[in-house]
Amino acid sequence: MAEKRDYYEVLGVSKSATDAEIKKAYHAMVKKYHPDLHPDDKEAEEKMKEVNEAYDVLSDKDKRAKYDRAGFAGVDPSYGAGSGAGAGGFGGFGGMGGFGDIGDIFGDIFSGFGGFGGMGGFGQSRQNPNAPRRGQDIRTDVQISFMDACKGVDVTVRVNRNEKCPQCHGSGARPGTSPETCPDCRGTGSVRTAQRFGGAVIQSTSVCPRCRGTGRIIREVCPGCSGQGVVRRPFTKTVSIPRGVDNGNTDRITGEGDCGINGGENGDIIIRINVKPDEMFEREGSDIYSEVPISYLQAALGDEITVPTIDGGEKFRIPPGTQNGTVFVLRNKGVYKLYRPTRGDHHFAVRVDVPKNLNRRQAELLKAFDDSLEERNKSDRKNIFDRMTGKFGK
Ligand SMILES: [Zn+2]
Ligand SMILES: [Zn+2]
Repeated sequence: MAEKRDYYEVLGVSKSATDAEIKKAYHAMVKKYHPDLHPDDKEAEEKMKEVNEAYDVLSDKDKRAKYDRAGFAGVDPSYGAGSGAGAGGFGGFGGMGGFGDIGDIFGDIFSGFGGFGGMGGFGQSRQNPNAPRRGQDIRTDVQISFMDACKGVDVTVRVNRNEKCPQCHGSGARPGTSPETCPDCRGTGSVRTAQRFGGAVIQSTSVCPRCRGTGRIIREVCPGCSGQGVVRRPFTKTVSIPRGVDNGNTDRITGEGDCGINGGENGDIIIRINVKPDEMFEREGSDIYSEVPISYLQAALGDEITVPTIDGGEKFRIPPGTQNGTVFVLRNKGVYKLYRPTRGDHHFAVRVDVPKNLNRRQAELLKAFDDSLEERNKSDRKNIFDRMTGKFGK
């Protein structure tokens, strides 16, 4: 490679050129040498590279000042050692001097052996930056009531997601312009560099510093997305939660997550269902559990009672002599199994309400009643005392 040309000379501007003049000159050069206009033209490619490098420095106030002061060495500490590409941890090439582009030189030498480019380990091996990538899944929580979980419900899901920018259609370039293929890596996103390590020269691959591995350079960024190609947008969708869902279940809206990159498919929205507990019902799988208060009279004489279920009040006849805590089962009155036509059961325990705040007369009546009880009227209470006596020996 020929000796490096002065950056001002490359862009064809004077040393006192204004920023605007530099930009204008650069644009003219891009139009002249852009690789798209000169496919497979090695010379144009080199020119473009030279122009980009010059513009990189002269368009940056700080770099330009350093260049004006110290020349190439002012802006590139590895000047004289080729592109230097910043890879690996082996330190610079200091003092090698004299070669324009050592990477190319060793590239040529090693090309005879084949396969050195992929040596890996020293650089970062990368996938093709332009390969399709699937968008991210978005996780969101939805809170529904106990009853809605039993019956099914429509919920509205609101998320923020990445969408392809409508202005640039994902390219990141200002509408009317298009991203350019990175001249340094020719769109691959990685560059090969040669490094001297002890006596050996090792060629490695690293992320292209110019395009940061994207393989593309955007000269004029899209104002809609600041060059990202995607925009963050709120997204709302109503989904039907099926009957029988339970706390912690998840549902998925396929293809409505973050948009894919480079034509990759979209991610999904994953909805996690949180079911609010109910005051009256508890649930285990598709079975429901509840407690029903009855009077001691109903417990003693039996009665038809109304049991609250998820379908509403259900008539049930409790037998005379029902004990506190007895569990009854209403078959097929539980929750529908998810995506099935069958249901669980409803289990309810009766809780006998013991009368409180009795007045003297009521208390006397109750005592008289209790005195009237015979052995055959007694139930588990008696049996429990008998068993305890037996157990504890007295
Ligand atoms: Zn855009
Ligand atoms: Zn690149």
